[in-house]
Amino acid sequence: MNILVIGSGGREHAFAWKLKQSSKCKNLYITPGNAGTEKIAQNVDIGVGDFLGIKNLIIEKDISLVIVGPEVPLVDGIRSYLQSDKRLQLLKIVGPGKEGAMLEGSKDYAKQFMMKHGIPTAASKTFTKETLAEAKEYLKTVKMPIVLKADGLAAGKGVIICKNLKEATLTINKMLAKGMFGAASEQVVIEEFLAGIELSVFVLTDGKSYKILPEAKDYKPIGENNTGPNTGGMGSVSPVIFAKGDFLKKVEDRIIIPTINGLNSDNINYQGFIFIGLMNVNGEPFVIEYNVRMGDPETQVVVPRIKSDLVELMDAVASRTLSNVELEIDDKTAATVVMVAGGYPDAYDKGDIISGMENESNDTLIFHAGTKTLGEQSVTNGGRVLAVTGLGDDIQKALDNSYDLVSKIHWDNVYFRKDIGHDLMTLE
Ligand code: AMP
Repeated sequence: MNILVIGSGGREHAFAWKLKQSSKCKNLYITPGNAGTEKIAQNVDIGVGDFLGIKNLIIEKDISLVIVGPEVPLVDGIRSYLQSDKRLQLLKIVGPGKEGAMLEGSKDYAKQFMMKHGIPTAASKTFTKETLAEAKEYLKTVKMPIVLKADGLAAGKGVIICKNLKEATLTINKMLAKGMFGAASEQVVIEEFLAGIELSVFVLTDGKSYKILPEAKDYKPIGENNTGPNTGGMGSVSPVIFAKGDFLKKVEDRIIIPTINGLNSDNINYQGFIFIGLMNVNGEPFVIEYNVRMGDPETQVVVPRIKSDLVELMDAVASRTLSNVELEIDDKTAATVVMVAGGYPDAYDKGDIISGMENESNDTLIFHAGTKTLGEQSVTNGGRVLAVTGLGDDIQKALDNSYDLVSKIHWDNVYFRKDIGHDLMTLE
């Protein structure tokens, strides 16, 4: 079949890499893609928000399966937009409709969903500009630190952890009264701080049945030992040592099953990925967020561990036949290190020539994120430039393989964290 992947990051490159290995994949298109996807598929220069352009491409190229990478087009309703065209009645789409996407599009909606369906999460209250005074009073009654979350999409930057009342009062004011995150912070969720270890669990569902994909841990802050501002993600590792047996069973029974049942009882037809951000608090799982798509850079460690045919899996999700398909997972560990342009997440240069990528081996994979092709060369074209995944029999070998290749890749002002996975090794 002809397949379209929407997006341009390392996540989409990882999808493309795996889809391409299937005998069921005929032509593979990426909108808009990057220098990495260009080598294995056909990039088409259409933005992820250009729904008309995407629809026309699907019709013109006779595409029968679409995988939506990022959250924004899902929250903006790409699914119903495409399905409302009579010519696309048979189109298969991996990614929920607008209603399901609200689990990521509104933190308050997600909280209400969890409360309604008895899914464990941190205690919280939601406030608006009109109730700012109440919010400030409420802050005086809670334990510090406290977590303030912009309700809407804020490119991963809308969560602020405040250490004391002064900081929290200042921040709630900025968010609600000063439009710190624009429309996204017109509502703010004030949430209890959970102390624990984070991990991400990924579920594929066709709305009826589900499969649990390999879990992962990601590293968001720019600096080593998780210091400095948050980024889109500086690295990730899968599997996560404590995500097994008893703990994973709790996650399935208390979170995954109630989430799927909740979607059904709320009449939300959901076909796609559910990314559950979890906090492990003394062995008990709590949801800290839902995302309605795969993570980046988590995809770059999850997808290489999937042995099954990804086209078959995606087709089954969209066709509501997931229970007929086997999901086979590789025991290997995968670790990815994200190489970024110096200065990121603030201002950074673009257009620097990337060298050394020819050193990719059997134990490594290079997934492009912010790159483009200039003549014969790949050049930097974003903050996060490459995700370099290493595979190995254990976390140490996976990290060694990744860092060995990272050390051979270069451009001016390149930066990467040197401590990805270190915290997990001390747990081993
Ligand atoms: P989110 O966008 O909701 O995943 O939040 C971003 C980051 O903030 C998470 O990855 C956590 O590190 C942190 N965080 C979010 N909610 C909480 C919470 N209730 N307690 C502690 N940390 C949190």
